[in-house]
Amino acid sequence: MAGKRYLFTPGPTPVPPEVLAATAEPVLHHRGPDFKALLAETLEQLRQVCRTENDVLLFTASGTGAFESAVANLLAPGDRVLAVSQGEFGERWQKLATAYGAEVIPLAYEWGETPRAEDLAAALAETPADVVFLVHSETSTGVVADIQSLTAAAKETGALVVVDAVSSLGAVPLEADAWGVDVVVSGTQKALMSPPGLALATVSAAAWDRAERVTTPRFYFDWRRYRKALDAGSTPFTPAVATVAGLNAALTLILQEGLENAFARHAALGRACREGAKAMGLELFSPDEERSAVVTAILTPEEANAKELVLALRERHGITVAGGHGDMATRLFRIGHIGWFDVFDITTALAAVELVLADMGAPIERGVAVTRALEAYAAPVTAA
Ligand code: PLP
Repeated sequence: MAGKRYLFTPGPTPVPPEVLAATAEPVLHHRGPDFKALLAETLEQLRQVCRTENDVLLFTASGTGAFESAVANLLAPGDRVLAVSQGEFGERWQKLATAYGAEVIPLAYEWGETPRAEDLAAALAETPADVVFLVHSETSTGVVADIQSLTAAAKETGALVVVDAVSSLGAVPLEADAWGVDVVVSGTQKALMSPPGLALATVSAAAWDRAERVTTPRFYFDWRRYRKALDAGSTPFTPAVATVAGLNAALTLILQEGLENAFARHAALGRACREGAKAMGLELFSPDEERSAVVTAILTPEEANAKELVLALRERHGITVAGGHGDMATRLFRIGHIGWFDVFDITTALAAVELVLADMGAPIERGVAVTRALEAYAAPVTAA
């Protein structure tokens, strides 16, 4: 059918009609009382989703803007940071901190590996750092890290902990306060099922203390400006007011579903996707574990170039999945399942992948993926 489109990427993600409708409301003036009430409510909803009592700052920027805000406000040239990387976004922390003149100690894993708290503890014992940067869900590989144990290892040494939760917030459990995370950064276009355009950072008392002392030049992302404006119920610069309205509607839906229910749904979606892919004979690149609930990274059989698969899915069936980053581009594709997703999105994606791979002459088993995905969605896999 002409024009029918399916968005199965790990961001941007599909946006529910209630959220789209909210973004289409008449534009509010950002200094007026209506917007102030909307902003206050949205920040309170975000505190609930991040499970924090800390300040939440909202930027009109993509997720990387919130990354940059954390680096600019927490690091002065020469400060020592440890950035754990297991893919594209951990490497982004390293590049950003380097750009700001920090001394970066990398704790680098192969793409697809899961970081370990004991490695972090050992690295920090050898070279202490002022700030530790972590990635919760590494969207390039599908690995979801154990932020609780990594944060505990970093806190032992007194370092501040900053977590990239751009693709995980709202999809997998994250307890900012209970786990002691100083700064959580995220964006709207992933599990928060809103259009792209807003990013957020939660800031703990210890992070504020450091931000006050750091002398690094900053302006648009100067956290102090956001706090001052918040005291007057506003933002320092004109925010994307329509996207704030959409985010508010999306967070209302998420909180109505209940965070625990949303986490369980995402775990079931991930499980369905992995089991369906394996049933047709594909090899997973992302870990085969319940926690891998954000995006499933799958290897194509040797016969099938992943770039061609991604292209054919879009051109023949109107389906957008994500390709692989860098060296993995010809072997890897990724099906995202965060935000406004249900099991029929998974079965649609798997059915189309099966069709295209079969057309490409790949040796896959046909007719089993959808059934297996539906079974796995309904019941956790039990060990044989
Ligand atoms: N971190 C993670 C884990 C991501 O998935 C992304 C985007 O895909 C980013 C950071 C960067 O966010 P943005 O593209 O909104 O700047």
